[in-house]
Amino acid sequence: MISVSHLTKQYGDLTVLKDISTEIKKGEVISIIGPSGTGKSTFLRCLNRLEEPSGGTIRINGVDLLGRTTNVSTLRQQMNMVFQGFNLFSHLSVLENLTIAPIKLRGTPVAQAEAKAMDLLRLVGLGEKAESFPDELSGGQKQRVAIARCLAMDPDIILFDEPTSALDPTTVSEVLAVIRRLARDGMTMVIVTHEMDFARDVSNRVFFMDEGLIYEEGTPEQIFDQPQREKTRAFINRIRTVSWRIASPDYDLYAMNADIEAFSEKHMLPKALRQKLLLIVEEGLQLHAPFLGAAALNLSVGYAEKTDAIELVWESVGPAANPIDRAQLADDMGLRLIENMTEGLTYERTGETNRLSMRMRR
Ligand code: ADP
Ligand code: MG
Repeated sequence: MISVSHLTKQYGDLTVLKDISTEIKKGEVISIIGPSGTGKSTFLRCLNRLEEPSGGTIRINGVDLLGRTTNVSTLRQQMNMVFQGFNLFSHLSVLENLTIAPIKLRGTPVAQAEAKAMDLLRLVGLGEKAESFPDELSGGQKQRVAIARCLAMDPDIILFDEPTSALDPTTVSEVLAVIRRLARDGMTMVIVTHEMDFARDVSNRVFFMDEGLIYEEGTPEQIFDQPQREKTRAFINRIRTVSWRIASPDYDLYAMNADIEAFSEKHMLPKALRQKLLLIVEEGLQLHAPFLGAAALNLSVGYAEKTDAIELVWESVGPAANPIDRAQLADDMGLRLIENMTEGLTYERTGETNRLSMRMRR
């Protein structure tokens, strides 16, 4: 139905879409997830030419969408979009919001347009609101009107750009329920969303966007349970990282501790975890102390919000330096402490790199 090949989009020097190629088939429901600023909206907007792509091709039902003769207005009817901010006409009633485009753009007779609009309003649960004005509706109701308005143009495909992110949390589910219903009815949809549970159960394919690409794609099971690539994993498991470069034995431990506190605060780490983390970092630094003169040490702490797991990785590039080699330790008090609080404690040397990794025990 839609075929995208080598789509690119630049804003001046900023490359937002680097190289996007994909096929979307009739009846598919595709969720697009990814950090903000990675071009998800831009991709949708290029699909229906609210933005002019910088390069590449998009074909819908075989028709070149970027062709000069392509009628953009017809195209937008085929591929209609629902926005985060509803974009309803506030001076028109709900019913008129649904009928204006069919009447004005298509020449549909008023009575016919109204009958259809009423059917669609009932479909989204808002048959009683036909005479209301947008201002009289909740966010969830407005968004359902926007979906009905979109359906009034008989689109082949609907593009949703974060349809629930402007909503009061209490009205999110009513909008998601309507989208689920459309999915069951076989509507082809591309949905940019932050609602992971929803993305998981509504879609048959998930695109994870990053670096201006569809960085990883797969079934919901593949993306949510077994993401293959690093950035996908970090996003799915909501891994937050913080890192330090410890350049000499005279590093500022107080500043580091303050950073750890701030990081813990920001990500709401449980109190017990914070205390342990501070202790592990301090003991880990002790273990590395003999080597600090020879090479700078890099410490990165990753916290997976989804699982509450914390991983610490200590790396230095230089002479071999195994901080957990008992034969080299004057006493192993610190090491034993770390062993008690962590699991998966491993030292590896790869090329010139020393790497000590550990996960905090829960
Ligand atoms: P997402 O929807 O994934 O959050 P967007 O597609 O909105 O990302 O934006 C991707 C990048 O493109 C961002 O860095 C944003 O600042 C930039 N961008 C979006 N629209 C414009 C524009 N009209 N002019 C310049 N830069 C833009
Ligand atoms: Mg966006």
